[in-house]
Parts: sequence; C-alpha cells; structure tokens
Amino acid sequence: MTLSETGAQAATARGARIRPPRPSSKPNGQWKVDGTEPLNANEQFKQDDSGLNVRERIEKVYAQGGFSSIDPTDLHGRFRWWGLYTQRKPGIDGGKTASLEPHELEDEYFMLRVRIDGGQLTTEQLRVIGGISTDFARGTADLTDRQNIQLHWVEVESMPEIWRRLESVGLSTTEACGDVPRVVLGSPVAGIASDELIDPTPQIDEITSRFIGDPELANLPRKFKTAITGHPSQDVVHEINDVAFVAVDHPEHGVGYDLWVGGALSTVPRLGERLGTWVAPDQVADVWYGVARIFRDYGYRRLRNKARLKFLLADWGPEKFRDVLETEYLEYRLADGPAAPKPATPGDHVGVHRQKDGRFYVGATPIVGRISGQQIADLADLVEAHGSTRLRTTPHQKIVVLDIPEDRVKSFIAGLDALGLSARPSLIRRGTIACTGIEYCKLAIVDTKDTARAAVLELEKRLGGADLPAPLSLHVNGCPNSCARIQTADIGLKGQIITDDEGNQVPGFQVHLGGGLASSDRAEAGLGRTVRGLKVEATGIADYVERIATRFAGDRDGDE
Ligand code: SF4
Repeated sequence: MTLSETGAQAATARGARIRPPRPSSKPNGQWKVDGTEPLNANEQFKQDDSGLNVRERIEKVYAQGGFSSIDPTDLHGRFRWWGLYTQRKPGIDGGKTASLEPHELEDEYFMLRVRIDGGQLTTEQLRVIGGISTDFARGTADLTDRQNIQLHWVEVESMPEIWRRLESVGLSTTEACGDVPRVVLGSPVAGIASDELIDPTPQIDEITSRFIGDPELANLPRKFKTAITGHPSQDVVHEINDVAFVAVDHPEHGVGYDLWVGGALSTVPRLGERLGTWVAPDQVADVWYGVARIFRDYGYRRLRNKARLKFLLADWGPEKFRDVLETEYLEYRLADGPAAPKPATPGDHVGVHRQKDGRFYVGATPIVGRISGQQIADLADLVEAHGSTRLRTTPHQKIVVLDIPEDRVKSFIAGLDALGLSARPSLIRRGTIACTGIEYCKLAIVDTKDTARAAVLELEKRLGGADLPAPLSLHVNGCPNSCARIQTADIGLKGQIITDDEGNQVPGFQVHLGGGLASSDRAEAGLGRTVRGLKVEATGIADYVERIATRFAGDRDGDE
C-alpha cells in the first residue's frame, strides 16, 4: 500500500541530509586521523579490555558469584559482546524512562541474543534453543527482525550451560551485540529458491569464519551491520545496513554483487548508498573486511550518536569512500557495476513456494515474532515429521521451512496452523512487526508486542475473514530508536507518552507514513515522513489502521 504524503511534515526522504560532526578544533576520535586516545568513557572501557575477554570472567567468576559479583563496566559494556543485556525491571512506568538512572531501570535478569547468521538453522539447533528457552528463559523466545532469536529472564549463573548447549550444535552468541560486526543477514531462501541469482552462503560463511570473534575488529566505533542476498526479491533490508551486497547480473562479468554502504535508521535515519561497483563472489569477504576496517580506522568515536558509518559516508560521499576502499585497503580497483533491478516479488517469503529441486519451502508467521520454547520444540518435531531438517529465520520476524515434499505440504500447513504459525496469514498479521518494547527493554516508553498483537487480532476480527485491500506494513517501536524500522513501513509507530482527549498522559505513538524499501511495493526505497501532530493512542491502533485502509480503498487509482 502506498500512503498519501499530502499534508505530511517532511522529516527526511532518503535521509541523505544527516550531518557529519561539524569541523572543529576538537578531534573526532578517528583513529587514523586523530590517534587512538580514548575521548569518552565508552572508548576508554573498550581500550582497557576487549569485550571478548569478559566471557572467561562470566564463566569463572560471575556465574559462581551471581549478579552482585559483576563488575559494573562489564555489566553495562562488555557483556554485550556476548549477546547479553540487562532487561528492564517490571512495573516501571514508561513515562519515567527518561528521568531514571539506567541502574534504577535495570533488573538482575538478562536478554540473550542468539546469533543466527544467514538465518540458517537445523531442527537440532532449533530444539536446543527451545530447550534453553524452557530451562533457563521462562519459555520466552522472540524472532527478531535481524534473524536472531532473543531470550529473556536469563540469569548469569545459567550462561556456562547455555553456551555449552549452543556451541554443541554450532550456535553462538559471540558479538551478537556491542560495537562489533553483528549477525550477517542472509537471504532466507539461499541455495534453494528456483529464481535465485546466486547462493550467498559461501560468502556469509567466509565472513563469519574469518572475522567474527577477531580481536582486530572487536572495537569498532559502534555496531556494524551486514546483509547479503542472492535473491531478486532483495529480502535482507539491505538499504539500512552498514554494508550490504545485493546480487546483480553484470552484462560482462556475470553474477556478482552490488555494494551498498552507510545505511542505518535509529533517530537519524539514512538509507545506504551504492558505491557503483560490481563485486565478484570471491572478493566479497575481502571487500567486507575493507569496509569494516575503514569504519574502525576512520569512524567517528568522540560522540556516540555520530559514530555509525552513515556519518562518515555523509561526510566523504560514495566516490571518496570507494577510492579509500580501493587504494588503502584492497589495493586494487573494483569493476564498475549496475544496480540490481527493482524486485517484482515480496521479500518476506510467506506462503508456499517451489524450490529448484522440486520440493517446497513454506514461509510462516507468528504474530509480531513472538513464539515460545514449547512452540520451538513442537516446530522442530513437525518439520522432521514432514521429512525436513532445515529452516531459516527472516528479517521480517518470520520462519521459512525448507525441503517439504509436495505431497506433505497440505499436512504441514495444517500443522503450522495448529502451532499458531500461519503460512496463510491475513495481510495485517503478515505486515506487522514490533520491537521488544517496555516488557524487557530499558529504553522503552511504551509496550509494543502485546499492543501490536491486540491490534492485529482486533483488525482480523473486524474484517471477519475478509482482508485489507492491499498489503500493508505496520511497524511498532517502543521508543525513537527504530529497532522495528518504523521509517521503512507504510505505517510506522514511534512509542511515546501522549495526551488523550481528557488530558490524561497515556501510552501512544507518533505516526510515520509512507516508508518502504526496495522490496516493498514503492517505486523506490524511501523513508517515511512524520505527520506533525498525528498521534495515536495504544488502544486506538486498530481504529487508525482501519481508517487508513478504508480511505485508501476508496481513493486508490485502478489497481494501485
Ligand atoms: Fe527498545 Fe526502543 Fe529498540 Fe524498541 S526501539 S527495542 S523500545 S530501544
């Protein structure tokens, strides 16, 4: 659905107007320009001791001594290098989030992010995650929009056994958070889709095996996000990653990748930019390493809110960035290359699709990514009972199960339905994602998961088996940080406390309208716009979406 922007207050369109740090007499903390002297407490703790080193202390000291034994710098800094964040203490009002000190918001339990590069999982791995969820995380599990699975209520005492179980099946939490190369997003249909241009799995494997956990890249200015796809649906939200590779068929060189850099959302969103290069598959890991080292060496470190790669790109521009990459880091020139064509199919892979080997892959969705340890274990059983052992997580909080034989598809879909994982969801269920929100996130102002779930169920009830007039993306965030990519949705909701008609302070959302990435049905990727004064109460989302959808259905031209 393309929403009208008439009357909208422009925030950013492509987001290209962000400003790098102002030229000043103060150093910006660029290691190659200013030297490596730490300019703030964050940079200081990273230099004092690598986040990677905290694993040993967790296993040998903190797991025995419990929460109170944890050094505060480890707790609030280095733990993230192993996928651990303290979660929010229950019952603290979202209106107080900004006025309380972080330790006042903090519980003695952790969120734990399990890293799933390329979203590639086996049923054996799924069972292990389900078991950890049940045994150590009160049965919680959320599919994140970066292909990870996030658990909650984890105690530090459980971590040695959790790591033992994860690593016994080839999973890890290494650099799942922190100022490091995070999980590598990969096409959920890598290696199996009949219309795939190239299987990116070897490139993902090379990057993760060579560089994840490498101390040389364990102190970046901030997080560093990667996406790689070989599928024409461009299914990895590449425009909002620090570095991304999108398959393209070059008229002379054949299939390789179009290189993008400098995308990121948060409160200052900016879509990535193409460097105009064609990257051969066997060059991908070296090019990735070059971009990561540019970020390490030239990224701004003085101000944490100006430290993502997008600010350096805004300062340098794509021509200079490419030149530095080629001359200082690769020491060869990359071929020029074309842009990949606009996708013709959606990138969430929901539904039933034939694989290149004649079997089928089935994309299914829980509501807003929320599942449970028991559902995970039951899903593993269901998948195996239908002759498969492989599945994928997606950047849209969905699951794709591979290798289902044709004569088992119907029974498999019925089994998914019984688990609450629909392969034939309503458009609103399919298009809605939500971030962690106030239930567990210390930065949150409002609830997201339950609020969005209630809106989805209410809309489905009102539509009574009918559907929205067209696909619609509804992204729900608990604060301005945009973990649920609000600026890239038809309707993006940014959590805040608002004033209702009676003058009460209530949970609500600022509305963003009209965003979408290449994989959406927009003509081209663009960021949504804030509509000044347009806010919706948490209890009014279903009404709002229904109004928008009805107006759209009435006003649209032809099959718009
Ligand atoms: Fe937390 Fe805000 Fe991110 Fe949601 S958007 S997970 S509330 S930081």
